[in-house]
Amino acid sequence: MDISSKTGIKEITNKYNIYPHKKWGQNFLVDKNILNKIANLSGLTSDDYVIEIGPGLGALTREIASRSKGVLAIEIDPSLQEVLQETLADSNNSRLKMADVLKVNLEQELMDAFKLSKLTTYKVCANIPYNITTPIIFNLLETGPNMEYAILMIQKEVALRIKARPGNKEYGLLTVMIQYYAEVEYLMDVSRNCFFPRPEVDSAVIKITPHNPNKFKLKNEAGFKSLVRKAFQMRRKTMLNICSAEFGMEKEKIKRYLDILGIDCNKRPENLTIHNFISIAENWPAAGGEF
Ligand code: SAM
Repeated sequence: MDISSKTGIKEITNKYNIYPHKKWGQNFLVDKNILNKIANLSGLTSDDYVIEIGPGLGALTREIASRSKGVLAIEIDPSLQEVLQETLADSNNSRLKMADVLKVNLEQELMDAFKLSKLTTYKVCANIPYNITTPIIFNLLETGPNMEYAILMIQKEVALRIKARPGNKEYGLLTVMIQYYAEVEYLMDVSRNCFFPRPEVDSAVIKITPHNPNKFKLKNEAGFKSLVRKAFQMRRKTMLNICSAEFGMEKEKIKRYLDILGIDCNKRPENLTIHNFISIAENWPAAGGEF
């Protein structure tokens, strides 16, 4: 059965009496060419272990499995288990875990699935459910240093926000926080017509490569995160007002502080680079308000 076509999907969903669940973002890829492209962009070799989030009916899983040493596919929807057992029957190097990806320890699951005595590096390749894009990305980035990179298909609008540059209206909390953890490449657009059921929005494939853990070694990581969050909650205000609210200090002192750092206090957060935010947060405790 061709599960990468609309007809094939209708056939298999009828056979198992299942239907796509909106709450789990079930929009299945029905374009062979795109499936191939994503698997190729993943740059897999026969030495690679891969984690796939949300295999759905298994179309992408099969492509990944044929290019890698092993793929662990984690799927939340219990009604897809039987289907996946059928569609992945020929992929001897694929393992299936029925679970919520946000509730498992990915690295432990990978070790258990392939009986690895110690953790190896791994890659992630997935067409992820759009409603939990942000928690999935942060989960991946905060899990550990062993993920080489993730190739993710996400909503195009979110991909543009992640990739945005300062001065752009898409630039925001998500942009700065992901840039803090990783390098992001925008790989390609995917039309909404390549899915069944057809979603309301277009998609894009991005590559997220975690930075070397030493890239930003912050003394005051909590302060940096708090400042960035506050800044984009108050995105129409100037940095003068934002810093004054964040540090609880008169504006005159804040102005002097930002001047010393070479940051124009009238700028709005969308015009600050990640380095500007880091500079403000990192120098604050040392300055201790004494300037
Ligand atoms: N990989 C398939 C494809 O490309 O056709 C399906 C992709 S579909 C956009 C997203 C998949 O993620 C669905 O199969 C859905 O059930 C699954 N999913 C949604 N939330 C999940 C979660 N929290 N943990 C694991 N899988 C999840």
